Amino acid sequence: MLQRLLDCFYPALCELCQKSLKNGRSLCTTCAEDLPKISEPFCQNCGETFDGNIEGHFQCNNCLGSTHDFHFARAALKGHTLPFHLVHSLKYRRHFYIARELARFLAETWKEDDRFRQLGANAILIPVPLHWRRQQTRHANQAFELAREMSKLTGLPFRNALKRARPTLTQTKLNRKQRLSNLHGAFQMKKRHLPHLRRANVILIDDVFTTGATAHECTRVLKHQGKASKVAILTLVRG
Ligand SMILES: [Zn+2]
Ligand SMILES: [Zn+2]
Repeated sequence: MLQRLLDCFYPALCELCQKSLKNGRSLCTTCAEDLPKISEPFCQNCGETFDGNIEGHFQCNNCLGSTHDFHFARAALKGHTLPFHLVHSLKYRRHFYIARELARFLAETWKEDDRFRQLGANAILIPVPLHWRRQQTRHANQAFELAREMSKLTGLPFRNALKRARPTLTQTKLNRKQRLSNLHGAFQMKKRHLPHLRRANVILIDDVFTTGATAHECTRVLKHQGKASKVAILTLVRG
């Protein structure tokens, strides 16, 4: 009832094609179907896509011979213009309502990838945190919004269990090594969540996976401070 009333006064528009929509949707079916989804083959460690034909499981050149603390990383969408446009709307234009649409892609990816299944129905969704000062400027944390919406869709438990202990530089212009040192010691566990993390499997949620430095650092904290068992990474976009 309330939704219908809202549709009358504030007709929602598709975030990509501006077509008017109902029922609180913010992405039309055509645009949602046209988004470049990641399917096999992709790197079994970092989710990097591979455009050619390849048989069986593969590891990308970046991952060959390197070790990650996390179990594996997987993304839902390719790092093309439209997915980045949506992330930008969520992050910088304060269109937080699209998190509900975007979480559907996360839920779909979680459902189709057996490796997430193997983590169990009690795997905890934890968002990558923002420093409180940056969160104040942006008015919300995009990873928090995505994880909370994904929890509603999948029934997986959600805990905002990590915090940023200190502000960090924006990572965009840094390479992997610089990112790792920029992030070292930047994350901490929130104490009240500690009892729930012990031996639990975790799915860490973020908007974009680029070099994996954030994923690596959060995993280290979840395992060392939180005593979590396995930590898998699920992001909306593979940057
Ligand atoms: Zn559309
Ligand atoms: Zn890889």
